[in-house]
Amino acid sequence: MPDCLFCKIIAGDIPAEVIYQTEDVLVFRDVNPVAPTHLLAVPKQHISTINELDESNATLVGKMYLAAKEVARQENIQEQGYRTVINCGENAGQTVFHIHLHILAGRSFSWPPG
Ligand code: AMP
Repeated sequence: MPDCLFCKIIAGDIPAEVIYQTEDVLVFRDVNPVAPTHLLAVPKQHISTINELDESNATLVGKMYLAAKEVARQENIQEQGYRTVINCGENAGQTVFHIHLHILAGRSFSWPPG
């Protein structure tokens, strides 16, 4: 998608600190971290929100979580724990309309979320 920020990062047109990638998923550091570790796992295929997912994307979503597991191992946050979040739409605070899994660690997180 020409106007999509994360598609530009995937294409290498905008720099990002990429820490892991597979054929289908890219993981990079969030530019504005809200925790000591804040990573984003994004599918290389453009999908705007969870609302646009269909059955054909089921494996891809699983791969996003497998990427999260792998980077949690790499970043050594597996044991302390981490939070994964996909914001969907306005009330959830989604600002970039290319689905992404936030991976947050390095502090405690409250529940319910604010
Ligand atoms: P969300 O609010 O769930 O849509 O999350 C979007 C995330 O993208 C935010 O946490 C931003 O800090 C992050 N972000 C925006 N621009 C960039 C960028 N150029 N590189 C890395 N992360 C970004």
